[in-house]
Amino acid sequence: MAQVLSGKEVSGELRNAIKEEIAAIRQTSPDFNPGLAIVQVGGREDSNVYIRMKCKAAEEVGMTATHVKLPQTTTEQELLQVVQKLNSDVKTHGIIVQLPLDSSNEINTDLIINSIAPQKDVDGLNGENAAMLSRGDMSNCILPCTPRGCLELIRKTGTEIKGKRAVVLGRSKIVGSPMANLLTWNHATVTICHSRTIDLPSVCKEADILVAAVGRPEMVKADWIKPGAVVIDCGINSIPDASKKSGQRLVGDVAYSECKEVASWITPVPGGVGPMTVAMLIRNTVDGAKRELEAAKVKTWNLS
Ligand code: NAP
Repeated sequence: MAQVLSGKEVSGELRNAIKEEIAAIRQTSPDFNPGLAIVQVGGREDSNVYIRMKCKAAEEVGMTATHVKLPQTTTEQELLQVVQKLNSDVKTHGIIVQLPLDSSNEINTDLIINSIAPQKDVDGLNGENAAMLSRGDMSNCILPCTPRGCLELIRKTGTEIKGKRAVVLGRSKIVGSPMANLLTWNHATVTICHSRTIDLPSVCKEADILVAAVGRPEMVKADWIKPGAVVIDCGINSIPDASKKSGQRLVGDVAYSECKEVASWITPVPGGVGPMTVAMLIRNTVDGAKRELEAAKVKTWNLS
């Protein structure tokens, strides 16, 4: 029977450590104030919930979060201008554009994400950061939040990643592809699966570490899991449940109750990867503010 890998707990520890870190930095640099800007186009209810969670987490650690809410009628050009303004705002250390965009106009999402200054791209999604990660240049890039959170959870199990067989289900820019890169550069041997993969169950069964990010409710079954594997479930899927007041409940991409009988560690949904994503967003923003603080100190020393 697997041990439960609680992202809720691990993210709580991380956020407490960040809070203490900010307070310690302020002892010597009282003006240190990491700033996160969250740009939203339109008003999707799921996005509103995610943004509220991100703002709350930011405020709790003592940083400033600004929600830049734009109307659904915003054009691509207007959105680009908002991002450019934030790129040059010295009080903003991290910028995210909440996806998917809820716009009545056609907006090229990649163009918008790539217009974020790479050093402020705290979702780690623009081309420059993704290219560095794919080449293993990890100390110079910002790591995307969900894969970074998954890696932290895998580390928490005490499992050595080096030399292990890892399988990532899904190849999206946000989760699957960067997760595979992160595991590769942590020296796992990685297989990426997608909608055209043949015989998913037997490929998954080779995995010592299995990360599922497909968006298919409870697709991964117990007989897909190698006994003793670490199973990380990124999926967030809403399914009908007449016993709930809302008529719905959240499940992951992994059939949790049967897979936990076979795995050594498993993340629940909710309370697994989700809270880690938020904690990593905070981590990336504080790291950006620290880099800027260091750069400002060097500039001052050079002047004097
Ligand atoms: P996505 O962009 O839709 O990508 C899904 C991936 O899964 C694609 O690569 C797709 O293959 C593959 N796939 C879909 N159906 C499949 C099937 N039947 N068999 C094999 N592969 C299949 O999704 P995403 O943005 O990566 O998100 C994945 C899940 O993670 C979703 O449930 C999402 O809500 C969740 N998520 C959670 C967090 C968090 O903070 N916890 C963050 C982001 C996403 P193709 O490439 O061939 O189409």
